[in-house]
Amino acid sequence: MTYKKHLRYKYIFGPVPSRRLGLSLGIDLMPHKTCTLNCVYCECGKTTNLTMNCKEYIPVEPLQEELKDFLSSNPKLDFITFSGSGEPTLHTGIKEIINFIKKDCPKYKIALLTNGTLFFQPDIRKQISGVDIVIASLDAASKQNFKKINRPHPGLDLPEIIEGLVSLRKEFAKQLWMEVFLVPGINDNRDELNRIKKTLSLIYPDKIQLNTLDRPGVESWIRPASKKDLLDAASYLNGADVIKSLDSMSNDGVLNKNDCNYLLSIIKRRPCTAEDISKISDNSLEEIYRHLDALIEKGLIVKKNMPRGAFYTFDS
Ligand code: SF4
Repeated sequence: MTYKKHLRYKYIFGPVPSRRLGLSLGIDLMPHKTCTLNCVYCECGKTTNLTMNCKEYIPVEPLQEELKDFLSSNPKLDFITFSGSGEPTLHTGIKEIINFIKKDCPKYKIALLTNGTLFFQPDIRKQISGVDIVIASLDAASKQNFKKINRPHPGLDLPEIIEGLVSLRKEFAKQLWMEVFLVPGINDNRDELNRIKKTLSLIYPDKIQLNTLDRPGVESWIRPASKKDLLDAASYLNGADVIKSLDSMSNDGVLNKNDCNYLLSIIKRRPCTAEDISKISDNSLEEIYRHLDALIEKGLIVKKNMPRGAFYTFDS
């Protein structure tokens, strides 16, 4: 994997250490920042194109060329993951890309990170049926809290979204994980947790995961849930897993170079600490800080202090 290759890639990024999926190569199908929701905690920044319009947002062919090029060196990866700057199920070419990976690089498993809002459409469920894991979100089971946390497109209807997830479960026999993002003061009370619990029991996910703010979100008023509150909520939701911090992951050292453009491509999709970056780099923390300082000086990224440390984030 060389420095020059990374610079050429526009639609794939990483590999990055994922808290849930191990070492993951990201595919970003959406222009920043296009989504059906505008979540208060979104780590990619504010949604600037709030839409339910499905189309080929980025061209499929050049993306396939990037994948072919990157995967030709047979890299060690745990997953190839649809994630990035928005909601991937809005892209009409997702099935073609999944088929391409399964045909040309069958040894790699595919994950889809989605907000799950479009699964009420049977065609979208069919489009993604070839992935190995779907990780979908459900942060609220009341309309009021759905609006407060996820700030949806006006065309979305929560009961219809839930029906879509139930239908997906019936049709999708592989792994379906549901993620609940805990926002203290909104969805951490017993009433809302109870509604979420009942809804999840209709969906029958293989796993329930609880998440909370780890990186800077869109709104500065959000605070992370305490460890105790996370553990209490996890046990109330029938033994949900609390998503582990990157701090507990090992250094895979998959990159032998770091440069400003590469760092920028990662940070654009996901705010990181210098320590997060050191987990995918052989470079010293000193060198990483030097590159990060250079990006700050150019006005391309900003530093935000969070409980887990100083995060470097895209200045959108
Ligand atoms: S967190 Fe996910 S679903 Fe919510 S606005 Fe960001 S990209 Fe969209």
